[in-house]
Amino acid sequence: MKIQEILARLINGNTRFVADLLEGKLQDSKRRESLLSGQNPFAIILNCSDSRVVPEFIFDTGLGELFTVRVAGNIANSSTIASIEYAVVNMESKLIVVMGHENCGAVSSAIDGGDNGTNLNHLLAHITPAISACKKDATIDDIVKKNAELTVNDLKNKSTILKEALDNGSIKIIPAYYNLGTGKVDFYKIN
Ligand SMILES: [Zn+2]
Repeated sequence: MKIQEILARLINGNTRFVADLLEGKLQDSKRRESLLSGQNPFAIILNCSDSRVVPEFIFDTGLGELFTVRVAGNIANSSTIASIEYAVVNMESKLIVVMGHENCGAVSSAIDGGDNGTNLNHLLAHITPAISACKKDATIDDIVKKNAELTVNDLKNKSTILKEALDNGSIKIIPAYYNLGTGKVDFYKIN
């Protein structure tokens, strides 16, 4: 599948989700059986752990269609980058979507700042650059979008595997924004 076709498939699935017209295909025993020998998801999604942001529903996909990496604030750290590298090397996933979402709790914690303990401090430190890159009057959702963009850059800059795949045109990485109320995904920076 070409990158443009993958994107179209995600957009079409999301349109069905928004309209309450989920097809819910490829989620049964027959599909499970067909996947026993392996997986070949068509897209990779890096998104937040937030329970309201579930890529398989949002894009109306079935088993084996999306390789999802979820971490609060959809950040690029060693573990999430390694997971994405695994998919790029071993499967034919050509499109990586970094999806932030409306009212992200991780982003608002990063804005609040303070000492949140070793583990959360590590995670929030990945979001701080997005806050610095935005103007003082930026809304949380401006920062969510900036964070997704900077995560796209991190994936490029912190991974030789992804950088090479980007340079030879075999993959594309794009940011996206999920609207909690409408269920719509905005691909706001497609070029
Ligand atoms: Zn979140």
